Amino acid sequence: MIMAMLLPAWQGVRQRISDALIHSSRSLDDCRLLAVSKTFPAEAIVSLYALGQREFGENYVQELCSKASTLANYPDLIWHFIGPLQSNKTRQVAEIAHWVHSVDRLKIAERLSAQRPAHLPELQICLQVNVSGEESKSGMTPEELPELARAVAKLPRLRLRGLMCIPEPTEDQAILAARFGLLHKLFNELNACGLGLDTLSMGMSADLETAISAGSTIVRVGSAIFGARNYS
Ligand SMILES: *Cc1c(COP(=O)(O)O)cnc(C)c1O
Repeated sequence: MIMAMLLPAWQGVRQRISDALIHSSRSLDDCRLLAVSKTFPAEAIVSLYALGQREFGENYVQELCSKASTLANYPDLIWHFIGPLQSNKTRQVAEIAHWVHSVDRLKIAERLSAQRPAHLPELQICLQVNVSGEESKSGMTPEELPELARAVAKLPRLRLRGLMCIPEPTEDQAILAARFGLLHKLFNELNACGLGLDTLSMGMSADLETAISAGSTIVRVGSAIFGARNYS
């Protein structure tokens, strides 16, 4: 990643989001950009911060902890945890994150609720739903969702905001549109039962336009901003 490239890349993604919102006749503040900074250094976050980006997404608990402590003097950074969450790591996430998008079991939600420090605002929660059936294993099934959503909505120190999905890897935008459409339908059904959700976390670098036309309110974008990731 070359820092000088971050400005045009970030502006380019913001432009794609605006264009997609206009295309869907939605208002320009209807969908936010979550910059997925996993595997990239804290300096990259500082560079985007200088441009006005405030919300950052991380997938690995250890990496979230170390970046949040390196960047502790930026108190208005908003950390979103979007990766798989094991029960032995919930405490760190409950203490650091502002949002968790990847809650897929009641046990994880109960631990986050119990471990959220009293001096912090409520932890903002999205439930991760498997919208791809047997093509994917992450997330709860659509059948499990209503009961789990009602249970999570009752937990103290958490605020249930909405739903998140990661469709199976495919470049077929018609399949992706169907997956995102399913998440939006489930969201509408929960709201018809009075849950008051306002967040649909869907869309990444390659499919954010498809997600926005299906109603996304926050897109999670990594490589289109920061470049290709190197996991070694
Ligand atoms: C890595 C990741 C992203 C970003 O993916 P890109 O294709 O790089 O934009 C979004 N959401 C989740 C859950 C991720 O793990």
